[in-house]
Amino acid sequence: MTTQPNCLNQFIDGEFTVSEAKRCIPVTNPATQEVLCEAPCATDQEIETAIVSAQEAYYQWREVPTPERARLMLNYQGVLKQHQEDIAVTLSKETGKTLADAKGDVWRGIEVVEQAANVSSLMMGETVENVARAIDCYSYLQPLGVCVGITPFNFPAMVPLWMYPMAIACGNSFILKPSEQDPMTPTQLAELAVEAGFPKGILQVLHGDKEQVDRLITHPLVKAISFVGSVAAGQHIYRTGTDNLKRVQAFAGAKNHMVVMPDADKDQVISNLIGSSVGAAGQRCMAISVAVMVGDAKNWVEDLRDAMANVRPGLWDDPQASYGPQISPQAKQRVLSFIAKGKEEGATCLLDGSDCKVPEAPDGNWVGPTLFTDVTPEMSIYKEEIFGPVLVVLCADTLDQAIELINQNPYGNGTSIFTASGQAARHFQHYIEVGQVGINVPIPVPLPFFSFTGWKNSFYGDQHAYGKQAVRFYTETKTVTARWFDPGMSASPNMTIHLR
Ligand code: NAD
Repeated sequence: MTTQPNCLNQFIDGEFTVSEAKRCIPVTNPATQEVLCEAPCATDQEIETAIVSAQEAYYQWREVPTPERARLMLNYQGVLKQHQEDIAVTLSKETGKTLADAKGDVWRGIEVVEQAANVSSLMMGETVENVARAIDCYSYLQPLGVCVGITPFNFPAMVPLWMYPMAIACGNSFILKPSEQDPMTPTQLAELAVEAGFPKGILQVLHGDKEQVDRLITHPLVKAISFVGSVAAGQHIYRTGTDNLKRVQAFAGAKNHMVVMPDADKDQVISNLIGSSVGAAGQRCMAISVAVMVGDAKNWVEDLRDAMANVRPGLWDDPQASYGPQISPQAKQRVLSFIAKGKEEGATCLLDGSDCKVPEAPDGNWVGPTLFTDVTPEMSIYKEEIFGPVLVVLCADTLDQAIELINQNPYGNGTSIFTASGQAARHFQHYIEVGQVGINVPIPVPLPFFSFTGWKNSFYGDQHAYGKQAVRFYTETKTVTARWFDPGMSASPNMTIHLR
């Protein structure tokens, strides 16, 4: 079977080509269930052609001077900026995200492209003159070859842009396998890469799901794998990739806590808790899904519920909507089953979004804001990543109890503390075992000159995404020890240094 006209093309060897896929995955608007297009599952031959082309492209590309590669990124940044509104509209349609949220998704990706345009200084090695007499030692960072990226549905612009701009700027070629749930945005990013002048083969996009991923991550020509997605897929990809002796960075799920101290500004706490828990329908890996109220802050829960009850989801182009639908009916069902389980396990549901209707879009995957109290660490709604607009509240008598709770949690992506005390904030930032910490900042996603540094079960690997760590991940260090013989110089110079 060849693919239907509304099927996306594969982007192989510089061409958008009709796929020979035997299987296609419908891409739906999650607010209406309208099928927008189909993602063709790349055939074995298409995967092979893409990888061989990427290898050829790499041989050419690694010879291009680093400042020229940086300049390509500068150009790409300009093209993306020019089209950021159109990309955001595509993104909103296929994810259901509000337009404002979609623009943020695109912008955070563009910022990484800006950082990739600084690659020359990031790729500087080290030198020591005279490591022995007349011998110098210096190191270079050199690209690896073909790199692969596997991305999730929840940030279809930002997460692909975490990966390939840095990888390509470092001199590699890159094959992206975007989420099958929203592949239109990454396809548009690839079209704009062509417009920006990306040479043939340095970026390729193959559609599909697990089957295509497994082919890519075991292929002998693939040198490095970047993954962002769920824990189960992350563990599988990390294990399979490293088992095949590849370099892997795998960013996985999360359960992010916000600690609320009683000296914090109550209004700030309530508005930041709501935005960070139900914003983007809770479908953010850095969403706050647990509030830990310390001491008298527990008395703010009723006010939190009242404010949360005013928030409603809606269509992407409705300026009054706070957030959009869950990505699929299955994702909605999963969130509803957690809400039901929370009630069964004895938590108190202060606000229940299970029966949420949006009159203009009755078929959407809507879930309303949901708030639980009387939650214990043994309950499923505390232990599992729900990935919906559900906030669970626990209480602690002291800051140290809150820190202990968070440190015992298996995830370590992000956390935050709201307080007026510098001493409490300093204590928290020092003792908390989580990779990204916000102080009066609810979602502390680092900007691209830092790196995205999740810990524990939120990340498998050692070098993280973007920033200097991405340059380390996408390069190999070569160390040169050099001696140049000077015919006029004696083999053993007679100057001696007397050490005291
Ligand atoms: P997912 O794991 O279902 O899919 C992610 C990608 O992996 C997709 O491209 C998919 O095709 C592929 N995939 C899925 N199952 C696979 C398997 N068994 N083998 C090989 N490939 C597989 O994740 P999702 O539902 O698209 O995204 C949501 C998840 O991503 C959440 O858990 C969220 O926390 C996580 N996430 C993490 C970060 C982070 O930085 N830590 C950022 C964004 C999203």
